[in-house]
Amino acid sequence: MEATPGWAIEAIVRAGQRMDQRGWVPATAGNISVRLDADRIAITASGFHKGFLDAGSVMQVDLAGKPLTNAKPSAETLLHCQIYRLDPKAGAVLHGHSVAATVLSMEQPGPIRLANYEVLKVFEGQKTHDTSLDLPVFDNTQDIPRLAAAAEATIAAGTPLGYLIRGHGVYVWGPDMNAALARLEGLEFLLACELEKRKLQR
Ligand SMILES: [Zn+2]
Repeated sequence: MEATPGWAIEAIVRAGQRMDQRGWVPATAGNISVRLDADRIAITASGFHKGFLDAGSVMQVDLAGKPLTNAKPSAETLLHCQIYRLDPKAGAVLHGHSVAATVLSMEQPGPIRLANYEVLKVFEGQKTHDTSLDLPVFDNTQDIPRLAAAAEATIAAGTPLGYLIRGHGVYVWGPDMNAALARLEGLEFLLACELEKRKLQR
């Protein structure tokens, strides 16, 4: 097996530090991955704090989630693999557990509508703030294949935002790590705004 390239480790380490600084990956929460080629990804192994990653906390798996290096994969590795399989343009996937994503996803049964925010323009295909996007929310379960089945159609349809898991966190992806981080930052900003807005309305 080829060693994980330095650029991939660096991208994952830096993304972990960024997500940690913003408070999006408490304790050992979250997972970060990048595509290495058509059949392999590099991904954070199970149990590491995302603010303190190094080469030893990054492993390789194939797109079925099978480990290619000697480390324990997180259960949610399969959700990363699913995104790479369904979206050939996906080059990096981020999963975090922010306060806003956790609280808002528990507030209502359906998707979260994000409307009239200037920041909506950072998402693909959005030319104006005068629009709305629905962020899909799926019920949390420890049965990862079941969660993947629930998310399958949304990913295949090319959701511009990503998706939430109820009471758990967010998945976003992009063509490379910088694009995925920009998308996560945009989405987390929108979720934080939405949470504040709902507090004011009470
Ligand atoms: Zn998680």
